[in-house]
Amino acid sequence: MFVCSIITFGFAGGALILRNLRQKRYSVRLRCKVKDKYKYVPLFFTINNRNCKVHIYKHLPCKVTCSYYGLQHILEFIKRARYTLNLCMCMLTSNEIQDALVDAHNKGVKVRFIADKMMAENRATRMEFLKSAGIPIKTQVQTVETVIHHKFCYCDENYPSNRKLFFGSLNLTIQGLTSNWDSVIFTDNRFLILQYKNIFEDLWTEF
Ligand SMILES: [Zn+2]
Repeated sequence: MFVCSIITFGFAGGALILRNLRQKRYSVRLRCKVKDKYKYVPLFFTINNRNCKVHIYKHLPCKVTCSYYGLQHILEFIKRARYTLNLCMCMLTSNEIQDALVDAHNKGVKVRFIADKMMAENRATRMEFLKSAGIPIKTQVQTVETVIHHKFCYCDENYPSNRKLFFGSLNLTIQGLTSNWDSVIFTDNRFLILQYKNIFEDLWTEF
């Protein structure tokens, strides 16, 4: 009986110690997250910006939340890429962004694009424009019940001072910039960039 009690208390005590250790480790992890040194900049888009199409075309922003500034943020991201630029994007129809990608390609940045096959075949996406400029584009082989629905872009993944990523729900379209509820997060978090890089490279190899 005495031996049984010791064993029971032994197990209970061990479990309690383990639980405390796990909680301690968890709280340490949480504290680390709070002290995260990386930057995160979210951008939000709303249907209230429907009238901002004309502000984008005329380069005349109407207010601080004008879609014009959202587009400029993305263009700046592309312009600052120095070595690589990798996009996995369901849809791209913005002429300004297409031009910025071609400019990056022409100045020697290694640009790669993964797009959804059905979207890429839609003339509105003008993938031919990017292809004819020399930017390699890949899509999934199977189109039945498959969609490349990702929306992310990262650059200079091997260069700590310049690597960046943006991801979210936003397609690179005027519709997304002005007439949807959408969001996108910009970050230099290297752990996130590494995970998106792995996903991108897997798809690039598979397609
Ligand atoms: Zn506006």
